[in-house]
Amino acid sequence: MRAILTFALIMLGACAARSAAEPYHLIPGQVTPNKGPDGNTIVLDAPDGLIVVDTGRHPEHVRAILAYANERRKPISAIVNTHWHLDHTTGNWDIRKAYPNVRVYASDALEGALVGFFPTSRKGAEEFVRSGKASPAQRAEMDRSFHVMDHPELLRPTDVISKSGPVEIAGRSLDVHLTKFAATEGDVWLYDPKAKIAIVGDLVVDIVPFMDTACADGWANALDEIAALPFRTLIPGHGPVMDRTDFLAWRTAYDNFVKCGHSSVDGKECVAGWERDAAKFIDEGHRAYVHDAAGYYLTTRLRSSPEEQQKYCKPLKTP
Ligand SMILES: [Zn+2]
Repeated sequence: MRAILTFALIMLGACAARSAAEPYHLIPGQVTPNKGPDGNTIVLDAPDGLIVVDTGRHPEHVRAILAYANERRKPISAIVNTHWHLDHTTGNWDIRKAYPNVRVYASDALEGALVGFFPTSRKGAEEFVRSGKASPAQRAEMDRSFHVMDHPELLRPTDVISKSGPVEIAGRSLDVHLTKFAATEGDVWLYDPKAKIAIVGDLVVDIVPFMDTACADGWANALDEIAALPFRTLIPGHGPVMDRTDFLAWRTAYDNFVKCGHSSVDGKECVAGWERDAAKFIDEGHRAYVHDAAGYYLTTRLRSSPEEQQKYCKPLKTP
């Protein structure tokens, strides 16, 4: 018995030591039914302060980011937004309030969202509010979203990422990648060749690919680009950290889902295929959510009209 206990304590110590040595700090996001998600936040150290990759949606998520910076007694010098989805960018507002000089690095894809996705999703959200079915928490969440949509300067980058390559951020050189027309019109992801860590935003979402603004084939290409790098650790936009084997399994699940979606196979089969291929990433608490979401993306994206399928494979904002 004592031997088992000692072993358990050693293992705990080993885990604590390892996590303290990780070259990043992860503030996990959440995906909860009937609530907007928060993306994962990754905090990196840099000579001039902290770099925050994605800022979440809800005030409580941003509070955790600000508390971590306080605890570290370091300023937040830079934000990197992997993409413009509001579960990754709304917190820019709070961080800008706390650190007015913070630099914000992102692609310019927000401009397309401002004329395309935001007005449409807002109409639906306003109808939901008018129906009286929204809970006080849902109303607060929507008010916060409407505020940043009305004030896009709270989200907008100060420094636009327009190509892949090394970028000096907060005094640290980072290997920045830009993939056009994948999960959004411009997905930014990072690779640290020394630590062999890839931070990929929503190009990987453990339970189900969030395809709301996806160009399905562009996304598959992005996964190939990621696979070509010799990373050992991959931090997805949502869900726990993956190793290479996990990522390759997820990519296969993604490719199979898209292939099935584009075939004449019964839709129920495609959803079941996703659930089977991605089973190791789907916990009990998300099974019903994943079932509905996979069906929804199959209908609205993979099996929509040819125009709708191509909608996010080209610029949304025409000059
Ligand atoms: Zn997300």
